Amino acid sequence: MVTQYKNLINGEMVDTGQWLDVVNPATEEVIGQVPSCGKDELDKAVAAARAAFKTWKKTPIEKRREAIMAVSGAIKENADELYRLLTSEQGKPHQQAQQEIYGAAGISAAQATLELEDEIIQDDDTRLSRHRRVPVGVVGGIVPWNFPVMMAIQKIVPAMLSGCTIILKPSPFTPLTTLRIAELIADKVPAGVVNIITGEDDLGPMITAHPDIDKITFTGSTATGKKIMEGASADLKRITLELGGNDASIVLPDADPKKVAEQLFWSSFSNAGQICIAAKRVYIHEDIYDELSEAIAEYAKNVKVGDGAQQGTGVGPIQNKKQYDRVLELIQDAKDNGYKFLLGGDADPSGSGYFVPLTILDNPPEDARIVAEEQFGPVMPLMKFSSEEEVIAKANNSEYGLAGAVWTANPEKGVEIAEQLETGTVWVNEFLHLSPFAPFGGHKQSGFGAEYGTEGLKEFTYPQVITVKKDNVPA
Ligand code: NAD
Repeated sequence: MVTQYKNLINGEMVDTGQWLDVVNPATEEVIGQVPSCGKDELDKAVAAARAAFKTWKKTPIEKRREAIMAVSGAIKENADELYRLLTSEQGKPHQQAQQEIYGAAGISAAQATLELEDEIIQDDDTRLSRHRRVPVGVVGGIVPWNFPVMMAIQKIVPAMLSGCTIILKPSPFTPLTTLRIAELIADKVPAGVVNIITGEDDLGPMITAHPDIDKITFTGSTATGKKIMEGASADLKRITLELGGNDASIVLPDADPKKVAEQLFWSSFSNAGQICIAAKRVYIHEDIYDELSEAIAEYAKNVKVGDGAQQGTGVGPIQNKKQYDRVLELIQDAKDNGYKFLLGGDADPSGSGYFVPLTILDNPPEDARIVAEEQFGPVMPLMKFSSEEEVIAKANNSEYGLAGAVWTANPEKGVEIAEQLETGTVWVNEFLHLSPFAPFGGHKQSGFGAEYGTEGLKEFTYPQVITVKKDNVPA
């Protein structure tokens, strides 16, 4: 019998008697089961969160920080067990799963130090006016399957710190590690402050529509983000949306191909390309295009695609069948259109596991589906450019605006180009680096609002201004 993982509601680990299977994407075997929740369980979780909010919002922030540190400690102390479980449900290689688990523990601890200090707006003979931030209330957190633990923590920690309580819903594809963490923290966080419930995709809209939830914080696709915004409009819930991306990397002619090839490879292929901020379009100046594209393809030939639990695996499977079919469809479309492949292009769907060979395309056109759409798979289209104006226009020619990068021997030039990109984050000479103290959010259809830093924390609060009129002011 497979292990059954329970939900966390009001401080108790509970189930519904109805179970959903969770599959290992490397083997397609069922590795665990989680409760299938509906409206009744959601109502219980919301009632628990609402009751806990009354006291949690008044709990001194130092106590709230202590509870977050207990969550961080529980993740760190159990990291060995957690990263193996994460690999088995998500597919990412052990080393990348370790980074996610330790990253989640580290980011929790770092975010616990954030401050939202009161601001004196006016203090003179007439008035004392103070701006403070108050928690919005009960939060619904909805997360995807690519970084299930990091995304869950990204929602839970700022909710706790701000004085909110939360109901978190993991993706039905990757709920196991999050529910194991729920079990580990059940006695470390006051009952009702953090509730974690699982269900199928219909549980998401129930959360968005719930009249006693005050805010939705969501990470996932742009299509779902739009539905959430629509659903949340009924009672004007506050929303934070972290959505899809089609990030461009721009390699200037002065970049050293030997130095950047490996980093560029991993910027596209980490987590099998299933990262919102992966480089999904790589523009290389024509002067170094041949040398650099060859160096990337050569590096790729030595990276093993396989089960993330096996030693030596660099790139794991696609996380689920639906996404696997979508990536294969985009590759097939590229083949049907006669685009040139430097590597890959031939998946074998007959075996077990959702494996896609590392696929590098040689200068496909801008309107190719594999360039214009978010691939979210181990696919790297390399495109030639000849002028800065041209490449900036191409990079910005997207409905998305999440992140981007510039690679150059001249950091000042890199910054000059970065400032012209229409994205929330731009790196010069690196990729995928996020700070818990810097706001992270998308421009255009990549998001709404931000996470991380005080800006992200503020999204869990309302502004409140208290003004005291002084006696000496005539009525
Ligand atoms: P998804 O939108 O299909 O699902 C995300 C979550 O929403 C899941 O928990 C799902 O059960 C739930 N959901 C589905 N339909 C819903 C609805 N109608 N209402 C409410 N909830 C609903 O996304 P996914 O396929 O799990 O994740 C991949 C996407 O996430 C990619 O587009 C990727 O770029 C994006 N992503 C963005 C960021 C970011 O920070 N911007 C980070 C990671 C992933």
